[in-house]
Order: sequence, then structure tokens, then C-alpha cells
Amino acid sequence: MSSLARTRADFPTLHQNVGPHPLVYLDNAATSHKPRAVIDALARYYECDNSNVHRGLHALSMRATDGFDAARARAAKFINAADPAEIVFTRGTTESINLVAQSWGAANLRPGDVILITEMEHHSNLVPWQQIAQRTGATLRYVPVAGENAQHGLDLDALDKLLTPEVKIFAFTHISNTLGTINPAADLCARARKAGALTLLDAAQSIGHEPLDVRAIGCDFLAFSGHKMCGPTGIGVLYGRRELLDAMTPWQSGGGMIANVEYFNTTYKPSPERFEAGTPDVSGAIGLHAAMDYLDALGRPLIAAHDSALAAQARAALAELPGIRILGPLQNSKRSGLVSFAFKDVHAHDIVTFADQDGIALRGGHHCNQPLMRKLGLPSTTRASFYVYNTPEEIDILIKSLRKILKFFGS
Ligand code: PLP
Repeated sequence: MSSLARTRADFPTLHQNVGPHPLVYLDNAATSHKPRAVIDALARYYECDNSNVHRGLHALSMRATDGFDAARARAAKFINAADPAEIVFTRGTTESINLVAQSWGAANLRPGDVILITEMEHHSNLVPWQQIAQRTGATLRYVPVAGENAQHGLDLDALDKLLTPEVKIFAFTHISNTLGTINPAADLCARARKAGALTLLDAAQSIGHEPLDVRAIGCDFLAFSGHKMCGPTGIGVLYGRRELLDAMTPWQSGGGMIANVEYFNTTYKPSPERFEAGTPDVSGAIGLHAAMDYLDALGRPLIAAHDSALAAQARAALAELPGIRILGPLQNSKRSGLVSFAFKDVHAHDIVTFADQDGIALRGGHHCNQPLMRKLGLPSTTRASFYVYNTPEEIDILIKSLRKILKFFGS
């Protein structure tokens, strides 16, 4: 069995038909499938260790606590954080960004300050900053994307001009979920640091696909979701440099995050507990641990090479189709494992609906990126996104199906 066939065998959901057709799952930027190792870790927790963490002195609670704490240490190692205390468990990227905006933002932003983001942000890294700008009187500014079909990525000259002393934080995506652009994270963080701004890196689309080292990148905060990297839904991580997290006040309160409560006053635990009010997602953290082990056993550099080879193959084949407009960078090295495209005369929702009849899972729409789509003059695009279990043959099936659909619509 080839190594790709072995990898595919690890994912039970892949082995099903959609109608008469074998499933071709190309919607990995939305969520990934889960390997048996992750499903087993979740089942084992519920079958053997299920208990609440931190407050119990019995065997099951201690085992659950050990599993939860080990997951935090594993997450720190996965991104090369200096200390497990720099890992806050959240529900995902969206909650991680909201935490920073609501806690750090509310305390540190005032009128005259600038929050800098980019035109390629997912709504998760846009709306929370809009809200906190409205609350604090800070100004929200955008680094433009440049070039035909946004192919040139972020305009770095514009970035340097926008990085004035008023910028308090620069929050940007590592990989655009709409364009597939890989932003040079370490370079962008260095530019921001030179200008005196903190940085938040949205790693939702990169964490499961390539090695990430927060110290090499030099970001102050990093946000990601478990479900896009073979882990369960409902669990994610906010990484923050320890001194920043310790200086931030809780954004939610309740059990688990307090040091001492009086009737009219409360003191809080240090980070990360101060940001994890209530019963945490214990099984999610344990599943995430298994996902990280799984990805590292495959090898993250190999995953990155696999995904981008598939994207390059797809891009070349798609470029042959009539009336197509492909978004994102032309150079393979600047592009991740997803391809976003639009046809002149066929709406993305029609493409996705018809492709589904051939067993192909694609995504069509604005990809939570409405302002960018408006700038590009597109109502929607179709997105094919690849992961560790996808095969070159699946791209051939996609292209065949697209040709059939285009013919049906007279294109
Ligand atoms: N940021 C990017 C770049 C994304 O692609 C997504 C999800 O697609 C998110 C943030 C939000 O992730 P979640 O819905 O898991 O919080």
C-alpha cells in the first residue's frame, strides 16, 4: 500500500459514497476529516476517564486533569511556545481573536490609536476589531491587497506606510482562506515590531498544513482551531506571550478562573486559567493532542509539500477551462493548498450543487470575506481545498465534473 493509501485508510469518513459516487472531499479549508487516532482518543476519554478537571481528588478526575494538562503542554510544543501557560484553550480561532479584542483591546485602545488588519481577513479577524474600535474610539485600517485577482498579495509598501506609531496591533492571516495566499508572517511581524505594534497571527489555515514556530515568527498572539487540523470541533488555541496574557484581565468569569472570591471582590488565577471560565472542553483538548501527534507522525513539511503539489496540479488544470478566473498568487511558493476560482457565466452555488451530484465536496460563496469579494467584483467563488488524504486522481475527477457542468450551462 502506498503511503497516501495508508493515510487515507486512517480516515473513516472518506470511505463512503455520495449517491453512486465515491466521496471526493475538497472542502478542507472549511474543516478537515478526523483520523481514527483522534476518534479513538475521544472515545477512550468518554469510555474510561470522563470526569471534570482541576477540582476533583478522585482517580477519574485526576486522569482527566492529567490528559487536559498534557494537551496544553503538547500544544505549546506543537508551536514551539516557551511555556504551556502561554496556551489558552478556546472554542477556536474566532473565540481566540475575540478574547484578544475584548480583553487586550478594551484595556489598551483609545481614540487616536489604530488597529491594523488586512483586506484579506476572514470575518473572524475583522468584525471583532470593528466592534472594539467602535467601543474604544480607535480607528480600524486595512492593508490593501494588490494586483489583478489579488495575485500580488499584500501591498508591502502600503503596509510600511500604514505602520505609524499610532498602530497598537497588527492582526493578519497567515494564509488567506479565499485567495490561498501565504503571507510572509515572520517578515510582517518584524515590520510591525519595528514600528512598535503588537501582532496577532490568524493561523486557522496554516496550522494543520505546515510547521509553525511562534518564536521564529515573532508574533505576540496566535489563534487557531482544532477542527481544521484533524482535531475535534469546539476546541482551539490562543497563544499569547506570557507577560501579555498575565497583564490582561479576564473577558469571561465564573468557576475555574478564580484565586479567591469575596462577596464583593474577586482575584483571578494567572494565565491561562484566568481565560478559561467554566468547565473546559476536556475531550476536545485530548482529541487535539491526538491530532497533533498524528500530524507530526506524518511530518508537517511533507504535508505542506503534498498540499501545495495538489494545488499546483489543480491550478494548471483549471486554467484550461473556458471563462475561468483564478484568484491568488501565480507562484506556487506563495500559494497554499487551496484554489479559489470563478466562472464568467456560472454561479459558484450552481458549480457546488452540480459537483455534489458527482460526489465532490467543494465550497462556494463569499468565504466569510465579503469586503474583499466586493473589491474583486465577485459575488462568490468556488473553492477546492486539499489536505493530506487527497489524491491527484481526485483532481482529475474534479476537472471532469467541472467540464460537464460548464457544458450543461453552455459555457
Ligand atoms: N480565520 C480563517 C483564515 C479561517 O479560514 C477561518 C475559518 O474558515 C477562521 C478564521 C474561523 O475559524 P473558526 O470558525 O474555526 O473559528
